[in-house]
Amino acid sequence: MLACSACVPEPAVEQRQLAVFGTLVTLTTYGVKATTTDTATTALERRFLELAQDWYPWADGELARVNAALAQRQPIEVSPALAALLRRAAELERQSDGNFNAGLGALTELWGFHRPEQQHWQPPDAARIAAALAGRPGAAQLQWSGATVTSATAFQLDLGGVAKGAILEIARRELDAQGIHDAIIDIGGDLLVIGDAGGRPARIGIRQPGSMDALGWVAVAGGEAVMTSGNYERFFEFEGRRYAHILDPATGYPAAGVASVTVLHTDPLLADAAATALLVAGSDGFAALCEKLDLDYALLLTTSGDLRLTGALQERVNWVADGVSQRSSVSQ
Ligand code: AMP
Ligand code: MG
Repeated sequence: MLACSACVPEPAVEQRQLAVFGTLVTLTTYGVKATTTDTATTALERRFLELAQDWYPWADGELARVNAALAQRQPIEVSPALAALLRRAAELERQSDGNFNAGLGALTELWGFHRPEQQHWQPPDAARIAAALAGRPGAAQLQWSGATVTSATAFQLDLGGVAKGAILEIARRELDAQGIHDAIIDIGGDLLVIGDAGGRPARIGIRQPGSMDALGWVAVAGGEAVMTSGNYERFFEFEGRRYAHILDPATGYPAAGVASVTVLHTDPLLADAAATALLVAGSDGFAALCEKLDLDYALLLTTSGDLRLTGALQERVNWVADGVSQRSSVSQ
């Protein structure tokens, strides 16, 4: 019996990569044939390319058409998938006390963060920032009549703060339909663990913002997503200050003071929106917003290197970097 336990074959591990959503998507499957992984990868790629078109406001797809209608205050019919996402986004705006806001498309455009290749950055005029916030943009402004949507105020939707979570949920369903029940799907560092991923918990590193060095790692269970928002992803420096792509809906200016937030949750969409919202709420708002969103596992790292995390996550993290636990403060 003892000898036999060493003979159990390792489950087959297959890995495929796709370049989509401006990043690298990695699919790792366990215990299925290479051809099954190939078929699933092809199906995922087709779906991802459709979503990149349909959910990106600066592409030429459904969300761009919805934005064009909203700009004219014209009603427009929305597909069931996008309608469900917009309704969920409106709910997340309320649940996050407005720190998450899916209606900041015009503001993102004004700051220029929709064009990462832009060269000459500087903050926009304060009057134009105030104008972009007039009428309180947000998915909560949308009025629904069946599948048709309108808004009394003109604003531009941007689902960037929640899209990867929603896409991970779609990927989970697609993989299930392809007979893949043990996998990790990783969209540029935001990931979902499906099933038991090869019979041992997936060890996911918590990165030092903007570097490949790990602060620590967590054993992530099947069904859990790990979503990170950071101020190092897209930013510019002007007169010694960093302006990054996550905007505070209350001021119209980039949220400052937080380097990164990581949230673990079985609902990837909630984890994604929550990470963005916590980055806006900052260190002072961390504990209250974790409680409001009912998050067990969240971690925030300030730009000065201080760490805040929930008590339940503290119990799961294995620190590898020196002195991290001395710099951390546990809430809840
Ligand atoms: P994430 O990486 O999930 O935090 O998403 C960041 C992206 O969400 C930005 O690039 C914008 O497209 C959009 N965004 C910026 N600020 C906010 C905000 N306060 N709430 C929701 N989405 C935002
Ligand atoms: Mg997010």
